[in-house]
Amino acid sequence: KEVSELIAAGEVIDRPASIIKELLENAIDAGANVITVEIKNGGRTYIRVTDNGKGISKEDLPTAFLRHATSKISVKNDLDSIMTLGFRGEALASICAVSKVDVLTKRPEEDYGTHYVIEGAVEKTCEECGCPDGTTFVVRDIFYNVPARLKFLKKDVSEGNFAADLVTKLTLSHPEISFKFIRDNKVEILTAGDGKIYSAVYSVYGRDFANSMLEVDYTWQGMHITGFTVKPLSAKPNRRFQNFFVNKRYVKSRACAAALEEAYRNLLMTGKFPACVLYIDIPPNTIDVNVHPTKIEVRFSDEKLMHEAVFFAVKNSLMKNDR
Ligand code: ADP
Ligand code: MG
Repeated sequence: KEVSELIAAGEVIDRPASIIKELLENAIDAGANVITVEIKNGGRTYIRVTDNGKGISKEDLPTAFLRHATSKISVKNDLDSIMTLGFRGEALASICAVSKVDVLTKRPEEDYGTHYVIEGAVEKTCEECGCPDGTTFVVRDIFYNVPARLKFLKKDVSEGNFAADLVTKLTLSHPEISFKFIRDNKVEILTAGDGKIYSAVYSVYGRDFANSMLEVDYTWQGMHITGFTVKPLSAKPNRRFQNFFVNKRYVKSRACAAALEEAYRNLLMTGKFPACVLYIDIPPNTIDVNVHPTKIEVRFSDEKLMHEAVFFAVKNSLMKNDR
């Protein structure tokens, strides 16, 4: 049983960033609007996620760590729920199988919270304690019991960068949540959570970036594209600053990236990669998400239509705005 648990865990959890992703999605699902992520040594030795959400009761804690123990609705099929609930009830079970987990949690309506400790899927502590409303997960020593996996992790800097990228994407897709990201005792990201995309972008990418943004607002064939591109001269040397969110979720899409770049080339021929933060709202039945938990690729049932929509949205914005 233990071996199959470890194998199952490996499919969902392959690096610190995938643990952080699961913990953050749970925090968001719990209704939190203030979330802190802290990592040490790229997340390898220490990950903390603290939220001010609805908390977990003492009775529910042990079951939350069992496989397929989700408290969330199970029959939904839009993109959003496929992506949040795609791996229903597997995350905590997988995480605790390969690390040492400490939870402090309190529901606002209860007087006491609970301190829960589980290591390698074995419960160590479950006791009442005083703590603030919400939930803190501390995950230590990932893969301490799976040395083969440990060897596959990249250098701490790279693992930390994966985590930072993930927090950046979530920050941009949830401007209503205040995020803080601390790496090795240094605050790297801090957002206001005021609901404004501009201020989220400002916080993660800085003032120069925010001031070079051009607004996009385009509706076509049932698709609505909003957000920002940047002035052509502010294009970047790589694609790291290209952000596409489909129905509020971050996705990787070659079709979108190609359309974006083509719009710039069509008008001005920059040799660089334009940055963007674009939100594409599209009927859920026209997209197909690869449901593997670590993949965020999306397919559009009409790629050509999608390409045209992004192309014209960006081109329009470039033409309308001062070059
Ligand atoms: P899923 O999110 O698919 O339900 P998980 O294994 O990620 O499965 O979590 C199991 C359960 O633990 C959740 O359904 C939820 O009830 C509870 N839970 C996990 N994290 C939190 C959190 N930060 N705040 C409140 N409840 C949580
Ligand atoms: Mg979850």
